[in-house]
Amino acid sequence: MTTLEALDVKPQSRLDAVLDLQRAAFLRDGAPGLDERRDDLKRLIAAMKENADAIAIAISADFGSRSKHETIVADVWPVVAGARNTLKRLPGWMKPKGVGVGIELLPARGRILYQPLGVVGIISPWNYPFQLAIAPLVAALAAGNRVMLKPSELTPRTSEFLAGFLAKLFPEEKVATVLGGADVGAAFSALPFDHLFYTGSTEIGRRVMRAAADNLTPVTLELGGKSPCIIGADADLAAACRSIAFGKLLNAGQTCIAPDYALVPKPMLDDFVAGLEAAIRALYPTLARNPDYTSIINARHYARISRLVDEARERGERVVQINSASEQLAPEARKFAPTLVIEPPADLTVMREEIFGPVLPILSYDTLDDAIAFVNARPRPLALYYFGVGTAARDRVLALTTSGGAAVNETLLHVAAENLPFGGVGASGMGAYHGDAGFRTFSHAKSVFLQNRFNAASLLHPPYGRAADFM
Ligand code: NAD
Repeated sequence: MTTLEALDVKPQSRLDAVLDLQRAAFLRDGAPGLDERRDDLKRLIAAMKENADAIAIAISADFGSRSKHETIVADVWPVVAGARNTLKRLPGWMKPKGVGVGIELLPARGRILYQPLGVVGIISPWNYPFQLAIAPLVAALAAGNRVMLKPSELTPRTSEFLAGFLAKLFPEEKVATVLGGADVGAAFSALPFDHLFYTGSTEIGRRVMRAAADNLTPVTLELGGKSPCIIGADADLAAACRSIAFGKLLNAGQTCIAPDYALVPKPMLDDFVAGLEAAIRALYPTLARNPDYTSIINARHYARISRLVDEARERGERVVQINSASEQLAPEARKFAPTLVIEPPADLTVMREEIFGPVLPILSYDTLDDAIAFVNARPRPLALYYFGVGTAARDRVLALTTSGGAAVNETLLHVAAENLPFGGVGASGMGAYHGDAGFRTFSHAKSVFLQNRFNAASLLHPPYGRAADFM
C-alpha cells in the first residue's frame, strides 16, 4: 500500500495521490457489505463516546470559550444519535427494491440497487466543527463510499483532532483528512470526486459548485441564509420567546438555522420585545464569566457583528442590548451581548446579510399575508419558524412559503429529528441528508431491468404490423 507520508508531496499532488489511492481501493474491493459498514459505524460511535471530552476541549480552545454541555448537546450527541439510527435502519435502506414494470413488459421485473458512488469529498465549516464533518461522513460510509474530508481552518485544534481521530479508526484508503484553508478548499473542490458535499456559506458554495461543474461532479450544498421566525397572532408569547432565545443564542447565534429575524403582529411588538429580553436574561443571567455563553469564533467575526449593531445605532434605530449594567465584556474574550434591533429598515446590513451572531432584528407586520410576502420577497431560507396555536394560519404559512425545513412552536429541533431530511432550497442549498436522505444522497440508485426467460419483448421487434394493439 502507498503511504503518503513516504511520498514527499506538495498539497495538490497529495490531494491527487489520496484520491488515486481511494479510487484504486474502491475499484479493487468494490462495495463493502453490510457487516463491514456496521462495524465501521460501531467503532465510530464508540470512539465518539470515548473522546467526547477531548472534542469539547478542542472546540472550546478554538472558540475561546464554549461549554462542554453545548458541545455534547449540539456537536457530538446529534452525530451519535444519527449513527445509531443509521446502524438500525441500514439493512432496510440497502435492500434492493423490487418495482413493477407495467403490464406491457410482463413477465419481466424491475429492481433498484443502491450502490456506493465511489470516492466522495466533504468540506465542512467551523461553527459545529465536529457534527458537520462527521454527520455527512456517517452517511457516506453507511452508503459504502470512501471519503476525503476537508475541515475548516478556522477551528485548527478541532481539525487536527479530527485528522488524528479518523486516522486511528480508518485506513487512509477509506477515510482521509486534508487540512488547509481556502486555497486547499479550492483545489479540493476541483478534484474529480464522485460526489462533493459542502457545508458553508452561500458565497463559497457558488465557487464549489462552479469547480465541481468542470468534472460533472454532483454536489450537495448545505448553505446559510436568513431564517425567519413568524409569530402568529394567537402564539403563546412566553413559550415563543423562550424557544427563540434558545435558538438564537445557542453557540452565540453561530448556527446556520438560528432565527435570523422575527416578524411579529404590530399590537404584540412591545410585549414580544419585553418577553424576549426576560427569556434571554433567564437563560443567561450573566455573560462575561458565564461558561454557558459561547464566544464569537474570532476577532474578524466579532468586528463584523459589532459593525452590524454600530450601523443600526448610527442610523438612529432602536437597539436593545441585554447585559447586566455592571458587567464589562472584554473584546478579547469575544462574548457579544445579545442584541435586539427593533424595526430596522430593509437596507440595513443586519437585514441584508446572514447575521450569524447573537443579534436579532424584530419587525412588526399588519397581516399574516404581509409577513408571508416579506419572507417570499427574499432568498429562500434554510429554516422557517412559526409560532401559533391555530392550524389554519400555521398551514397557510407552511403552504405559501418555501424554506429548506420548518419547525412549528419550536426552533432548531427539526435538525435533530434524524428521520427528517435536512437541507436547503434555492440560495440556502440543494440536496439533503440525515436518516435515509443521507444514505440516498451518497448512493447511486441503479435501475435494473430483469427479463424473464419467457421473453415477451419480441412483440416490440419488427416487423411492426401489430404496433397499434399496444394503445
Ligand atoms: P465558509 O464557506 O467560509 O467555509 C466553509 C469551508 O469551505 C471551510 O472548510 C473552508 O476552508 C472552505 N473554503 C473556503 N474557501 C473555499 C473555496 N474557494 N473553495 C472551496 N472551499 C473553500 O463557511 P464558514 O464561515 O465556515 O461557515 C459559515 C456558513 O456556513 C454560514 O453561512 C452558515 O449558515 C453556513 N452553514 C450551513 C450549514 C447547513 O447545514 N446548511 C451548517 C453550518 C453552517
